[in-house]
Amino acid sequence: MQDQNIKCHDCGNAVGQNEKRTEYDFGKQTYIKCELCHAKDPVLRNFQPTEVYSRVVGYIRPVSQWNLGKKSEYADRKEYAVS
Ligand SMILES: [Zn+2]
Repeated sequence: MQDQNIKCHDCGNAVGQNEKRTEYDFGKQTYIKCELCHAKDPVLRNFQPTEVYSRVVGYIRPVSQWNLGKKSEYADRKEYAVS
């Protein structure tokens, strides 16, 4: 029954017990890819949280350590390229 909640790491679709899948073991963590996603890209990418740094009140700090108000403001920020 525990297989019911297994999801593909890339597409997020549920992977049934009888479906073909690829398992990636990293220490305590196991990641699953469905057959389609494995055919597209057999390499597991972006499988651990990334520490994002940005500027807040004049300092470059990890966004995960910002307070709720500043995190909310960070979510409203838009990226742009200066031409
Ligand atoms: Zn998939």
